Amino acid sequence: MLIVMRGQATDEEIGRVCSVIERLGFEARPIPGGQRTAIGIVGNDRAIDPSPFVGLPGVVQTIQVSAPFKQVSREWQAEDTQVVLPNGAAFGGGAWCLVAGPCSIESEEQIHASAAGVAAAGGQVLRGGAFKPRTSPYAFQGLGEPALVWMKEAAAAHGLATVTEAVDAESAERVAAHADMIQIGARNMQNYALLGVVGQLGKPVLLKRGMSATIKEWLLAAEYVANAGQSQIVLCERGIRSFDDATRNVLDLGALVLAKQRSHLPVIADPSHGSGRRDMVAPLSLAAMAAGADGLIVEAHPDPDHALSDGAQSLPLDALSGLGSALRNGRTLRAALP
Ligand code: PEP
Ligand code: MN
Repeated sequence: MLIVMRGQATDEEIGRVCSVIERLGFEARPIPGGQRTAIGIVGNDRAIDPSPFVGLPGVVQTIQVSAPFKQVSREWQAEDTQVVLPNGAAFGGGAWCLVAGPCSIESEEQIHASAAGVAAAGGQVLRGGAFKPRTSPYAFQGLGEPALVWMKEAAAAHGLATVTEAVDAESAERVAAHADMIQIGARNMQNYALLGVVGQLGKPVLLKRGMSATIKEWLLAAEYVANAGQSQIVLCERGIRSFDDATRNVLDLGALVLAKQRSHLPVIADPSHGSGRRDMVAPLSLAAMAAGADGLIVEAHPDPDHALSDGAQSLPLDALSGLGSALRNGRTLRAALP
């Protein structure tokens, strides 16, 4: 439930509502807003009787939040959340940005060349994996912390922010120490212990949708992160499993539209994992932006045919530059959305 306070509610009035919430055994989450303060109640798993709050000084209204993912729901917060990284890259609330880079960081030279290509394409955030969750235990697993240092330096040289995946609590600490944003991959979307850990590390989180996760499960995963203390969360639709093996996954743009309706969090698309095919990345990127995506994460590599992971879906850097221009022109399509 949300308790909406009048615009001029005093700290004392807000404090009184919070103590009633705590006396009932729940947690109070004040949400200051431009016009009014609302106080959210968390910790309950069913509807709360509003009567203890009705008539308390300063209380204007009580609103039941019906979504099970409360704090990330549109009921909890009507306005879009905007997630902003230290270099000014922003997702949501009218802003979009391009995240690009290799699937894996393979060498210092490779990540520097990639960063130059991302910046030249108009991207603002460099991606690259140092801890890789690979389907096969014999596949390249990533270079670990030294790669994070190379990525940070390469990004800084081009004014880019960084995002990279954490696969467990230990790698999450290292990622938080070196990167601007922590990625939770599709395979870990339902690793609730990890979601709780990354929510406490003080860095924005990029939360990919699990390959067989429902929209509700995806938003509940985001709720774990929010409930652990991190509200700067970007959702990423990266394709779901289907019966058809013509593509690696099926980019679910309907889910992107619905997630944006149901949640105030920004939602971006990953056309690389969403198709597994380099030749589909540009059309799916434009389609995602037309559907209202708050950005894209695209795999790009200086020499994709020799990449240690996901080369088939990685764009060469000149193609990334072409996509960057097409996206800038395609913005009018997005602006046409009602
Ligand atoms: C990746 O971004 O390289 C990755 C492994 O993505 P996903 O978790 O979506 O498979
Ligand atoms: Mn990849």
